[in-house]
Amino acid sequence: MNSDKPREECGVFGIYAPEQDTARLTYFGLYALQHRGQESAGIAVSDGRRINVHKAMGLVAEVFADDALITGLRGKMALGHVRYSTTGSSLLANAQPLVVHFQHGMMALVHNGNLTNATRLKEELCQRGVVFHSTTDSEIILNLIAGYKRHNLEDAVIKTMMDIRGAYAILIMGDGKIIGARDPHGIRPLCIGVLEGRYCFASESCALDVIGAEFVRDVRPGEVATISAEGLSSLQSVSGSETAHCSFEHIYLARPDSTIDKVNVWESRFRMGRQLALEYPLEADLVIPVPDSGTPAALGYAQTTGRHFAEGLMKNRYVGRTFIQPTQEMRENSVRIKLNGNEHVLRGKNVVMVDDSIVRGTTSLKLIQLVRHCGAREVHMLISSPPVRHSCYYGIDTAERERLIANNMDVEGIRRFIGADSLYYLSEAGLRAALRDRDYCMACFTGVYPVPPPRDQCKDSLESVSDC
Ligand code: SF4
Repeated sequence: MNSDKPREECGVFGIYAPEQDTARLTYFGLYALQHRGQESAGIAVSDGRRINVHKAMGLVAEVFADDALITGLRGKMALGHVRYSTTGSSLLANAQPLVVHFQHGMMALVHNGNLTNATRLKEELCQRGVVFHSTTDSEIILNLIAGYKRHNLEDAVIKTMMDIRGAYAILIMGDGKIIGARDPHGIRPLCIGVLEGRYCFASESCALDVIGAEFVRDVRPGEVATISAEGLSSLQSVSGSETAHCSFEHIYLARPDSTIDKVNVWESRFRMGRQLALEYPLEADLVIPVPDSGTPAALGYAQTTGRHFAEGLMKNRYVGRTFIQPTQEMRENSVRIKLNGNEHVLRGKNVVMVDDSIVRGTTSLKLIQLVRHCGAREVHMLISSPPVRHSCYYGIDTAERERLIANNMDVEGIRRFIGADSLYYLSEAGLRAALRDRDYCMACFTGVYPVPPPRDQCKDSLESVSDC
């Protein structure tokens, strides 16, 4: 089902806590961030000088299936990473944390985001003789920091931030500290927590909850925050840009129990449903969500319109990434392996079905067929975001523009393609209202990019150097 959704490309976690089992805490932090990347996972620990790392392809629980791998990673601080890779880049060499030995010692880096000037930077570094071991733009950042490092690691990070463009939340471990930095627009999320007087970083606050840490604050756009034996300190590097947090984190990507940039994700999805109700108060017997990401918006819609809410679709929560492929005869029914309809709920009903987004439309088509197969008389589709018409260049895999259904068809064409009785999308103004009218990136809906996309605007060529 998720192949028809935008995909988050990485999650990061870091902690400085000499008194604690930092690798184990990082493991649980990554476990909470698993939705941000399922292709590879890794943890690096440091005693202040040496860095040890274990990383492999697979889910966090698979990569660290043997407890001895965690107990073998001892250090007063740790970094962790989960990664989703794009086509052709599913390589162990691209798994993170990335670690370098250089003239000033060792350094490790984890990165969530995507650089828009990666191609030019990589060419420049290659001309200077830098050898790359991966195809990620994260390695470009690591090499730039290593090149600028003279005395102070923070200075090297700030100089690197002057060179790089795009979206990034990075953690760098070296010199007895961990530095967290966020791009000047704050596109990708990064927050700070505290656990028994020691500090940690995470992509989302749900990872802090899991280890018992308290949320302190979000890393500010353009901020360079340091955690070390001295506690938490901060520098503002590049500033003056307009904030542009990713609105899709709230629509679909982030966990609903996370709070990002002071807005709780579940609540913002609920408000998107309320906005949908104000814009399209349809007559219907039932409001059903496409689980799980459509559920808060469906609840918001049902409560605002006074319509009955029911779970007409059931998700199998135990489906892994891979399973034995169904036979050709079963393929027509393959959607039901992951989502099944409840005939007792749906038979004879006029149904409003709420989903968070439509990317290619293939899943919506199958779900509407399924709901009709279960006896629904009418199926009206409501989407809690505007049509996705543009690709993302900031670390979310939205597919190439040509494959986005809303780039190729108008709403009526999409309605006919997916077979709905009616189809409505939340307006851009409605989405802004649900997000409390703050400054968000909405480029995949509007085509207005807060950072200019790469010059050739070709996602395929970009992905050859950057995909985290
Ligand atoms: S283009 Fe869309 S998915 Fe990408 S950062 Fe902006 S809002 Fe998020």
